[in-house]
Order: sequence, then structure tokens, then C-alpha cells
Amino acid sequence: MSEGRNRIGRRGFLGASAVLAASLPGIPATASAATPRPKADTTLRWWGNNSWEIRLPGGKVVLIDPWLTRFKTGTYSKEGADPDTRIEVDRRLIDGLVDSGELRADHILVTHGHYDHITDVPYLAEKTGATVIGTETHLSLLLALGAPEDQLAIATGGEFHTFDGYAIRVLRSLHSASGDRAKVAFAGTRPLSRRDRPRVISDLLEGGTLAYQVRSPSGFSVLNFGGSNYVESELAGLRPDVLLLPAGGDRVAEYVPRLLRTLGFPPYVVPTHWDDFDFPLDEPARDWGGLARLRDAVTAASPGSAFRVVDHREMFEP
Ligand SMILES: [Zn+2]
Repeated sequence: MSEGRNRIGRRGFLGASAVLAASLPGIPATASAATPRPKADTTLRWWGNNSWEIRLPGGKVVLIDPWLTRFKTGTYSKEGADPDTRIEVDRRLIDGLVDSGELRADHILVTHGHYDHITDVPYLAEKTGATVIGTETHLSLLLALGAPEDQLAIATGGEFHTFDGYAIRVLRSLHSASGDRAKVAFAGTRPLSRRDRPRVISDLLEGGTLAYQVRSPSGFSVLNFGGSNYVESELAGLRPDVLLLPAGGDRVAEYVPRLLRTLGFPPYVVPTHWDDFDFPLDEPARDWGGLARLRDAVTAASPGSAFRVVDHREMFEP
């Protein structure tokens, strides 16, 4: 229990200070043109925070960290999130989206257990029948919140699953660290056997963090991080076409330039986790303060990458 039950601010989740943006001498800061890129056959839609809908050819849909309910927590206010904020799920909103066919899912990928990532997953899994991937802690939380047990698939990072022409690679990753002691907010784990129901947001433990790469039949790939940190060695050799990159990362040495270099300077970088989720999804996204710094860092480190900002519920077609 690192941060106890103190209120945590936005620094607790993403951090806020400047990102180092220097390129290394002798390394070209441009998108790699050495190998031809696969056909862009994937469409993305942003549902705010780190909620992404990835539509693959053939009609398969992958959701990452879908959180549509967006109850008020004060995360990005001066006081920070109230750890005793009760967890809520807006079933009417989810029913409307799923029953109308606007939102479907074959897979739901969970990056970590925090409230702004996991809260809606049990009900969305029940409604859509999707397979859910997460760590033991994430699955423990999901089960305790009523997710259908037979739909849950445990992962530790390193898995590379192939489905009907497309593939999902699970990567060991890291949550953002914050403050002078570089701590993770609501840190901790719980075993699968534990079934007490989470009631407030501090019950939703981080539980390890995963990243995901989704690869379409053409080889076109989208890489997502749900927290502003990563394990560099896990990413060796990956060449995503689209990088979904969270704002923040102030405690991570060379957060943006080291990542873009490791990934071979992806053609598209799309910011994620940059909106203040105290405000509704049907309004334009409001920057909590990290977007401009992220853009500057990406432009400096990889001028050949297109930095594409999408708004709530907007499609991105590479
Ligand atoms: Zn988090």
C-alpha cells in the first residue's frame, strides 16, 4: 500500500512535467522506409481515455480498456481523485450502444485494473460475449464485478495469439510512476480466488500492466499502451504502423524518443489518455494538460511520424 488512501492527482496517473525530446546524434529521426508497409485495412475509433475500438477486415472488433460510463472522480482537479468514489456502470448507455449494433466486440483487452480502464468491462463482456484478456489481478477484479468466467483469458505478457487471420500480441508493460518516489497509484495485486466485490475506485488495483499489439490479416498493426511507461526489451523488433501513445511519462527517462526509436519511428502516432474524463463523452475531449507536450516530443523525436489527434467517438482511418 504505497499511496494509502490519499487523494491522488493527475500526477498520480500520468504525470505532468516536460518530456525529454532530444534525438540521439547519428540516429535518423524519421519513419523507416527500408521495408514496405502493409496495407492499411484497420479502422480505429476513440471512446475517450484509453478506450479504443479497432475494426479489422472481416468485421472482427477489438476493444481496449473500454470505459464509457465516466463517473466523476476529480482525477485531474487540484484535489485529485477521491479514493472513496463509488464505482458505477451506466447500463442504459451501454445497452443503447450494444443493442443498436453501434458497438460490438470480439475481444476486450485490459491494460490494467484502474477504474478508468476496467469498470465497464464486466458488463460489456456480458453484453457482447467478447473474450477478455488481462492479468490474474484484472480477472479477479472482473469476476468480482460479475464478468462471465468462461470468457476470461489470463495473460502475463509474452502471449502471441492467432485468430482468424489476425493476431493479438500481449506485452509485459509498466504503469506510469509519479511523484518524488516514482510510485504507482492504487498499486497492488489480488489472487483469482479472491471474490470480494470492489465498491470504490481504490479497490480497483493496478494489478500489473500489459500493452497490446493487434495485427490485421495484411500485417497492419496497432500498438497500444494504457499507461505512460513501457518495458523497452519487450518491444524489440516491433514495427507498429499506428502507435496509441499516452500523454504523461514525466518519470520515465526519454519517454517519447526512446520509445519511438525502439519501435522504428511508427508512421502514425495517435495520442491516448489525454482527455479529462470528468467531462462527458458526448462533448469534445478536454485536454488535461499533456497533449501539447506529447505532440512536441513526438515531432522532435520523429518528424516523419504523423501525429493525429482524434476526438471523442471519432474514427481514425490510417
Ligand atoms: Zn492507471
